[in-house]
Amino acid sequence: MDETTLYEKLAERLDRGVIVGVPKSPSGIRILKELFPGKEVEIALRLPMEQKTLPQLKELFPDEADSLGEILACMAKRGTVFTMVRPGKERVYSLLPILIGFAETPYWAGKDTATARHLAPLWLKYREEALGEELARGGPVVRVIPVAESLRDQSEILPFDMIKSKLDEVSYLAVGHCPCRQIMRYNGKGCSHTLENCLHFGSMGRYIVEQGMAREITKEEALTILTQADSEGLVHVCDNHQGQLSTICNCCGCCCIFLRTKKDMGLNVISSSSYVSQVDADLCAGCGTCEGRCPVFAIEVSDDDIAVVNKDICIGCGVCTPTCPTGAIALVMREDAKLPPDISEFLTLRYKP
Ligand code: SF4
Repeated sequence: MDETTLYEKLAERLDRGVIVGVPKSPSGIRILKELFPGKEVEIALRLPMEQKTLPQLKELFPDEADSLGEILACMAKRGTVFTMVRPGKERVYSLLPILIGFAETPYWAGKDTATARHLAPLWLKYREEALGEELARGGPVVRVIPVAESLRDQSEILPFDMIKSKLDEVSYLAVGHCPCRQIMRYNGKGCSHTLENCLHFGSMGRYIVEQGMAREITKEEALTILTQADSEGLVHVCDNHQGQLSTICNCCGCCCIFLRTKKDMGLNVISSSSYVSQVDADLCAGCGTCEGRCPVFAIEVSDDDIAVVNKDICIGCGVCTPTCPTGAIALVMREDAKLPPDISEFLTLRYKP
């Protein structure tokens, strides 16, 4: 098999049976060539997506038995193979998908590497060529969590949206650096928002800390990071399903792949929260502060000097509310509010046979 065919086969493999696949495109193939060099592409072509121990994998790769442990350790460090030690058990390995996976691993450490630079323009190109459509397939992958204080009636907040209590349920907390903002910076278009605020929990958190891509934090540190994100006008985004959290990103409208894909390509890649911004026309001074802060351009000050919210565009993040000088804008429950799907429904919606 020639080299390009190998990478096309890997794209086909990574495109099946996953939440977010790797549809084939020229930039997608170049990304795989950068991330799976030399022998690693051949290993990735046959490495299971389910977790396996090294002895189990040696049976699958008898010709590589002597060097397999070393190759897998190298791929784990590169961010293409997941590994963890099961409690009281052996270390296991599995191939990482693109998301949450090797679209982010080269950036979480926040280090300026040749790989991070080479990949940055390719990720923007890949979003246009294929990844944007892939993110929209089967419904949004991520969902907005509102800033709780933005609700007009605090008693309306749903349990799903209580970040503080959701953090009580996670087993391990880690923070890495935002991949989206770094990619945009390498492309000369970045912003000045905080980089180190990409939160990951549970086994993924442990993996990225073990591989030197992130650091472990306490719940109190996570809450401080979220408060700082609020003050910067960043949008909290989490998994779009019920159950335990795996991730909270703190996203800006200028760099976030989800917010930009929604704005630039009009694709349904991010689910709004259960709330929508509402303006009290009697209080509004028409200053335009909320219009400037809205990350998805959902607010416009009318000729009557009153802010008007486009409910179809508003994602219910609450970023517009804290800086309103007259307290005129707040979140209210959407009439058609619905909870995110449960995990099995989400997987069914997103599963790609
Ligand atoms: Fe009106 Fe407040 Fe928006 Fe200013 S920030 S335009 S006062 S709603």
